Amino acid sequence: MDMILELDDYRVYYKTLSGYVKAVDGVNLSVAEHEIIGLIGESGCGKSTLALSLALPKPPMKIMGGKANFLGIDLTRIPWKKRREILLSKLSIIPQYALDSLPVIKKIRDFLRDIARDKGVDEEKVFERFKERINFIGLPREVIDMYPIELSGGMRQRVVIALATLFSPALLIADEPTSALDVTTQRHVLELFSELRDNNIVGSIIFVTHDIASVRQIADKLAVMYAGKVVEYGDLEEVIREPLHPYTRGLIKAVPTLGINYKKKRLKGLAGSPPSLLNPPPGCRFAPRCPYAREECRINDPPTIVLDGYRTVKCWLYTRR
Ligand code: SF4
Repeated sequence: MDMILELDDYRVYYKTLSGYVKAVDGVNLSVAEHEIIGLIGESGCGKSTLALSLALPKPPMKIMGGKANFLGIDLTRIPWKKRREILLSKLSIIPQYALDSLPVIKKIRDFLRDIARDKGVDEEKVFERFKERINFIGLPREVIDMYPIELSGGMRQRVVIALATLFSPALLIADEPTSALDVTTQRHVLELFSELRDNNIVGSIIFVTHDIASVRQIADKLAVMYAGKVVEYGDLEEVIREPLHPYTRGLIKAVPTLGINYKKKRLKGLAGSPPSLLNPPPGCRFAPRCPYAREECRINDPPTIVLDGYRTVKCWLYTRR
């Protein structure tokens, strides 16, 4: 299978007065053509930083090293002019809170004019493309002459998706695209992402979320992030059925199940909280919360072990399997 994105020891930090916050710290991850990969983890684990840094790295975010090979271009070294060229056309992002970021004083047609100007494309062509896209997405054509404030949350999210996919990007990064939506609308929007991929409107998708239930509806692969690192990766159903990393196990156990009375039965959550990424602990970053932690874990960062071809786990427990 051809890879469209390969991250190798990818590192993104934030420069602060107290030092560097190591938000993404040595990530190795690949995304294949036509694949939807779910990127999951608790708030502050670095998943949104990873997503945003690939498309729009801006200070205080700083790419510190490693490689991010996207269709033969190293995104860690790409000049800003070239990055602007590939944005939307090859690589597109729906950032977190995109839903609320559409200025209310602009009609959708005005956004399209801005895009046409920025990309040097005839605006009539962009309007036509948008109409095709909203037709696919299931919105009325009149949306083009509406203000964002006139649209419901679900409609606004669909407009954001239509704008992000105007030029059929090879990779779409969607950061928590359903978290502000009600459950029914969430399901429709999730289905839409699968349809966009299945109809080759987008190539591959990185779907960033903290919600296992939503990622399970659409992703092929799952990457679990903890404290700036990918700690487990594999086929989504396999990882959910048989999580290997102690953090993934805790994350899955913490998901409530319908039909269980949690007044009588306590939900098993993860004890403790993630470490500060300004001064992360030496060794395994999960060690302070891990029931299996041993001496070695507190001293040395565990290697990423490759099991069964492409499944990986970053944990000392699997080094002598
Ligand atoms: Fe737990 Fe050690 Fe594995 Fe870290 S390396 S997850 S502390 S067993």
